[in-house]
Amino acid sequence: MDNFTFFNNTRIHFGEGQISKVTSEIPKDKKVLVLYGGGSIKKNGVYDQVKAVLADYNWSEFSGIEPNPKYETLLKAVAIIKAENFDYLLAVGGGSVVDGTKFIAAACRFEGPEPWDILEAQAVVNSALTLGCILTLPATGSESNGNAVITREHNKLAFNSPLVCPAFAILDPTTTLSLSPRQSANGVVGAFVHVMEQYLTYPVNAKVQDRFAEALLLNLIEEGPKVLKTPDDLAVRSNIMWSATQALNGLIGAGVPQDWTSHGIGHELTGHYGIDHARSLSIILPAVMKICRIEKEEKLLQYGERVFAITEGAIDQRIDQAIAQTINFFTIMNVPTTLNHAGLERASIEVLLNSLKKHGMVALGESRNNDLSRSRKILEAAL
Ligand code: NAP
Repeated sequence: MDNFTFFNNTRIHFGEGQISKVTSEIPKDKKVLVLYGGGSIKKNGVYDQVKAVLADYNWSEFSGIEPNPKYETLLKAVAIIKAENFDYLLAVGGGSVVDGTKFIAAACRFEGPEPWDILEAQAVVNSALTLGCILTLPATGSESNGNAVITREHNKLAFNSPLVCPAFAILDPTTTLSLSPRQSANGVVGAFVHVMEQYLTYPVNAKVQDRFAEALLLNLIEEGPKVLKTPDDLAVRSNIMWSATQALNGLIGAGVPQDWTSHGIGHELTGHYGIDHARSLSIILPAVMKICRIEKEEKLLQYGERVFAITEGAIDQRIDQAIAQTINFFTIMNVPTTLNHAGLERASIEVLLNSLKKHGMVALGESRNNDLSRSRKILEAAL
């Protein structure tokens, strides 16, 4: 196992009714800005719960943070926060709202000329407003990590800072009962691929991380189809919600090599063609497994054996089965597994490769050997 330092500063309040904990987290003298998306929280009752718990606070709201949050929208919030001196941000929504709020928190305190530098130039974040969140879509792990992904025109870029890791996160699975089948499936598949990016690399004898990752994969494979069949089952929703948080809160990624090729290429798919984040991952991951099967051989065999009980056959056959089982799981979850499924043709490959080049995504993967020629092979395998 590689050396690591693990720290996660997000206090989690998990379970039904936990939105009430907001009052124990946000000091009463703070001026709070509640940030949310396109209005799902008004339809499912979450907005009313937030309003009730903030009754004794000086607070206001900013709505309209879109899926794959847009830089221009977020700058509008920055201007309001600066003009009206808000000093605590409460994100209420899915990964896009939480990510957008993280960027706003950093941009409000950014001293350079253009906050886009936080993303494009990876300018160091030295200060940020404090934020907490009420998560309504289990998928990204954004509720307890320091990552955020922001879109400007066709550029979908990420940054990371411990300063934007939420101080607290409320995970009330009842808030997820209103998710559509598409968003429920996206959440399960997104979390699954987050685990795979940290697991399917090369072995470093990290037994705890491996077994923990496999437990999350098994749980998502078991509960994922159930959430589509019995969407009102709170036990299923709860297990999915906690799995998605654990998938990307730093724990399974500590001390192990990490890949993130599917995300690097997937962000381009979303940036150019508007494909949902999780669906970009379900398209690219199987192709990464195919093209990188030699360097991932040991972990592919371990994954096949421990997650899908594949123990018979020659090495190549077992790996083929592991990839086929992964595609089968995605198919059960009704997400696309090829570019064609998402309506894209060969011509899109040049667009995506040019964009990868523009964004410096030219050495992806756990060994940084997925250069553009390899990304081309991955995209061709994804056709
Ligand atoms: P999302 O983009 O936050 O939300 C997708 C849709 O689901 C929105 O239309 C939203 O509506 C709706 N929704 C959310 N909660 C709902 C509920 N309880 N009931 C009904 N509808 C609901 O989806 P996401 O998958 O969570 O986030 C994706 C973003 O996170 C992408 O930009 C991705 O790149 C990023 N990401 C971040 C990380 C990280 O570590 N920070 C990791 C992976 C991905 P409203 O707008 O009305 O709320």
